[in-house]
Amino acid sequence: MADHDEMLTTNPFDDDHFHEECAVFGIFGHTEAAAVTALGLHAMQHRGQEASGIVSFDRDQFHDHRALGQVGTIFSSKDVISRLKGTAAIGHNRYATTGEVALRNVQPLYGDFEFGGLAICHNGNLTNSFQLRSQLVRRGSLFQSTSDTEVIIHLLATSLRRTVVERMIDALRQVEGAYSLAALSKDGLIGVRDPLGVRPLSIGRLGDSWILASETVAFDIIGADFVRDVDPGEMVIINEAGLQSIRPFGLKRPARFCVFEHIYFARPDSVLDGRSVYEVRKRIGRELAKESPIEADTVIPVPDSGVPAALGYSVESGLPFELGIVRNHYVGRTFIEPTDQIRHLGVKLKHNANRAFIEGKRVILVDDSIVRGTTSTKIVEMVRAAGAREVHVRISSPPTNHSCFYGIATPERDKLLASRFDVEGMAEYIGADSLAFISIDGLYRALGLAGRDPVTPAFCDACFTGDYPIPLLDHDQGNVATQLSLIAEIA
Ligand code: AMP
Repeated sequence: MADHDEMLTTNPFDDDHFHEECAVFGIFGHTEAAAVTALGLHAMQHRGQEASGIVSFDRDQFHDHRALGQVGTIFSSKDVISRLKGTAAIGHNRYATTGEVALRNVQPLYGDFEFGGLAICHNGNLTNSFQLRSQLVRRGSLFQSTSDTEVIIHLLATSLRRTVVERMIDALRQVEGAYSLAALSKDGLIGVRDPLGVRPLSIGRLGDSWILASETVAFDIIGADFVRDVDPGEMVIINEAGLQSIRPFGLKRPARFCVFEHIYFARPDSVLDGRSVYEVRKRIGRELAKESPIEADTVIPVPDSGVPAALGYSVESGLPFELGIVRNHYVGRTFIEPTDQIRHLGVKLKHNANRAFIEGKRVILVDDSIVRGTTSTKIVEMVRAAGAREVHVRISSPPTNHSCFYGIATPERDKLLASRFDVEGMAEYIGADSLAFISIDGLYRALGLAGRDPVTPAFCDACFTGDYPIPLLDHDQGNVATQLSLIAEIA
């Protein structure tokens, strides 16, 4: 889910904090539903660290708790968990950019409808939410938050259909975009993936209870079994009768799962789309070594995101893998923002070069992506200052040349280093002796395919190719003006 005003006013890459997408979780039929949800959210903390929330249902009433911060703090108190009564719950970790991190935007969102209460949480980004929002506002809907997810709430409320499921189908047929949703009503738990399945959503079982989660690591933490992924365009309805599957969007279209989940977003111990994220990342590293070999002494990952690809590069090239950069794991949001004077000292909060090892070596640095080039520039400079003789950078994604409109924070296109320079220019900008990216076909090979099929590519790779599989309706209609006027309306 995305926030309309935040997308306009802030840039997630303006600070040094780790930014991810959202995580959704849902459980039906467990006596400790809220506690299990908190654990699942904890395993998916990497997908969102700004805020979390849980809504539970005890067959009579809904209970909720939402707060800014991380799961371990928000749900650490027994009181909080014991107030979240019931055998069904949904939960959400929110990834937001800086700007307005307001409690009113923290999911799950909840509404009281004609049919009773419903809570909903969303991972992804709708591409026509501004248009829908302005129509709804014109018809009298009063929005409480700035989140695109709230559009779904109002579409549910204004639908003339009878049941929750029928209204949900009615609502989702009007939205465009990428979404994996979990919703909870008195009639049960609903999980949905958009027709192209851009964002992940998996089904698990823990004893007799059913679980929905963005990533399979959420099953591991609670000892649940992975059953299968929710299919693209599938809606699953879970209640006392079990799990029922429907396909509300008509003809099945070829799936376009987000390839960047494999490259960077998901945890390496997750299995996405039937593929081990760790294995894929290692194979990308191997492909990269085949495509862009270079004489050097050692392969060094930029931790943590570059580790599996660096391992693969090392195996394929025969060069030793070493921890030449060490990451401080205690860099968090609570750290005092440095003053300008301290910032100018070039404080290395997150990464430090392992000088004793690096000195005099020709190193290959492996990272997952270059977005604006800030990280690579800093790291190359740091490794040189630690005495490296040569610094070669290898990136386990193709150049990030286009913004994502499907739920991954990317700066405006003109801020992307790859849209400003060719590879040689980028190498110069980051100060590397050489720079190479995995080719798009190499990436698809690492995913077990022959290459990228130009007619029906198996993944959404719009950030590399500019091939956007879902229409960018708000964007194409001059979103800035629309967004601004809408924000004025809701302000
Ligand atoms: P930059 O410093 O702007 O070039 O960003 C590149 C670094 O940010 C890489 O090391 C990635 O690990 C990380 N990264 C890539 N995509 C994202 C994203 N959408 N949100 C946050 N971090 C990202």
